[in-house]
Amino acid sequence: MNIFYLGTGAGIPAKLRNVTSIALKLLEERGTIWLFDAGEATQHQILHTSIKPRRIEKIFITHLHGDHLYGLPGLLASRSFQGGESEVTVYGPAGIKDYITISLSVSQTYLTYPLKIVEIEEGLIFEDDQFVVEAGLLSHGIPSYGYRVVEKDKPGTLLVEKLLEAGVQPGPVFGKIKNGETVTLEDGKVINPIDFVGPPQKGRIITILGDTRYCENAIRLAENADLLIHEATFSKGEGKLAYDYFHSTTHHAAEIASLAGCKQLCLTHISSRYDRNAALELLAEAQEVFTNTDIAEDFKEISIPSK
Ligand SMILES: [Zn+2]
Ligand SMILES: [Zn+2]
Repeated sequence: MNIFYLGTGAGIPAKLRNVTSIALKLLEERGTIWLFDAGEATQHQILHTSIKPRRIEKIFITHLHGDHLYGLPGLLASRSFQGGESEVTVYGPAGIKDYITISLSVSQTYLTYPLKIVEIEEGLIFEDDQFVVEAGLLSHGIPSYGYRVVEKDKPGTLLVEKLLEAGVQPGPVFGKIKNGETVTLEDGKVINPIDFVGPPQKGRIITILGDTRYCENAIRLAENADLLIHEATFSKGEGKLAYDYFHSTTHHAAEIASLAGCKQLCLTHISSRYDRNAALELLAEAQEVFTNTDIAEDFKEISIPSK
């Protein structure tokens, strides 16, 4: 499970930072990639990476501001020419369906793969046997969502040597024990799965928030997250500006990470007013409040190790 930053800037594209798009690479887990937002030229950014558009399985749009959205129709259209055959699901606020269908129909674009568009509300928006995704509303003037991606715990590994020592012969009985069934052997010996299966592997939690002011819902979405990706459009001294423009400061992001008990925070949505050195100052500000903070950069990849 890796995070790859395709665009980490705020508002308009800049040379150092393109507008927002974040890839959650789930190649080992499910052979696919989930995208969060698709600002203009996201597909151009992808060209500089090893990401294969045909692997994109889900696209979560946080809100309908152009710097998070204008790259979506082009990305969807090009995927048809890049070997994309599997279904893509786009999740986003009300209006996302019109935006996509009108863009594609006016430009007479026909996709070679099935496209599902889900206009979301708060709460559970996706669940399968591996992941649960929850959405919550933030505070940004227009509906802006945060997404909490929870990986389900994996069952512990079977302690094969211990089973052999206990006289259990390999076969379907191993599967039963792994699935938590208590098994009685032919000699009457009872095998309790608790003694022969290791501890479950805890799933990871990734929280990716759309643009927002400091808000309570951000804390709830980020609770105990292994990684929180939070915007930091303004420096710590610009709280008034941040409030007026519905954005956050470095300290806001760090306070959310601290209150939510996150393991790691990564700042993104960095304004082009901040050059490389100024961005490092933003990072230092956040670290005053929450030590384990990093700052996103275009093309930076970080892995979220298993627990
Ligand atoms: Zn934005
Ligand atoms: Zn916005």
